[in-house]
Amino acid sequence: MKKKVIVFSTGGTILSSAANPTELTNYTNRGTKISDILSLNGDADVEYRELYSIPSSQVGLPHWKTMISETEKVLSKDDVAGAVITHGTDTLEESAFLINLIVKSDKPIVFTGAMRPNGALGSDGELNLNNSIKAAMSPLSQNRGVLVCFNGKIGDARLITKTHTLDPSTFQAPEYGFCGFIINDYIEFLSRCDKPHTKSSEFELNDLNRLDSLSYVPVITSYPEETSDFIDAALMRGAKGIVYAGMGHGNVTPAAEKALSECRKRGVIVVRASRTGGPVLPSKEKWMQMGFIPSGSLSANKARLLLALSIAKHGQSQSEAERIFRTY
Ligand code: ASP
Repeated sequence: MKKKVIVFSTGGTILSSAANPTELTNYTNRGTKISDILSLNGDADVEYRELYSIPSSQVGLPHWKTMISETEKVLSKDDVAGAVITHGTDTLEESAFLINLIVKSDKPIVFTGAMRPNGALGSDGELNLNNSIKAAMSPLSQNRGVLVCFNGKIGDARLITKTHTLDPSTFQAPEYGFCGFIINDYIEFLSRCDKPHTKSSEFELNDLNRLDSLSYVPVITSYPEETSDFIDAALMRGAKGIVYAGMGHGNVTPAAEKALSECRKRGVIVVRASRTGGPVLPSKEKWMQMGFIPSGSLSANKARLLLALSIAKHGQSQSEAERIFRTY
């Protein structure tokens, strides 16, 4: 049986058009559909479905729930080989990470988008989509969790991050590297991320179904001359968790330490991440005693999602949050 790939569109630059070919920063969505993007389809049998059309800075739990349920639904069908989700690049890494932790399927799920609008010189949407469809058709992409395919490179959703405001090679996996590449019809994988994902992850759509939004879990970034104002405000506003993107190796300034320890006394779960990149490991006995959980190799933004998922599933349990950060 010839299997098909389902391409879901959600908005972003890949659906936008430039006013003229040299305009790379100002562009709008003029009603382009994802099915208009690709002029070549090769061997793939492709079905296009619009889930919604938003700039990805507006994505939130209702969109994620739709993305998860629709992806699970199509991947459960025998005649579907895999799914592609086109997405704005600004928060693509967050959506891809969340789907990676929740969707229950071992079929390929590939996220892509574009950094340059349609009609602009060097526009990247068409090639990214073409490559992603091929990656989603490939049996080599199975059981790898969610993949991100951009600029001919393939990365693991957990490791990939947007590193540049405008460059088509914006998605990188600093420190950890890409897991594969695709060029023409040739696809090769060289490594895989060892963390649980999709079917081996404990999280499921059911954990989110009763919620309208994720718990309030802000990321608060450290800076010289920091005061505790943002942490105090988060506590007053009822934060269930805080991800503190500290300086360097997740260092916590004295002002933040005092405020975060007050948060801990009130049951708020605190994760120590970094504003720098690179892992954050257990450090300083007093921070461990205060229960600040190190983010490990997760960026602050992905740590925020993981903490919100932990709270959605296990409430304010510190021990479950610690286990989850060790595991995922
Ligand atoms: N503003 C766009 C977004 O929706 C940027 C992009 O897609 O590259 O994320």
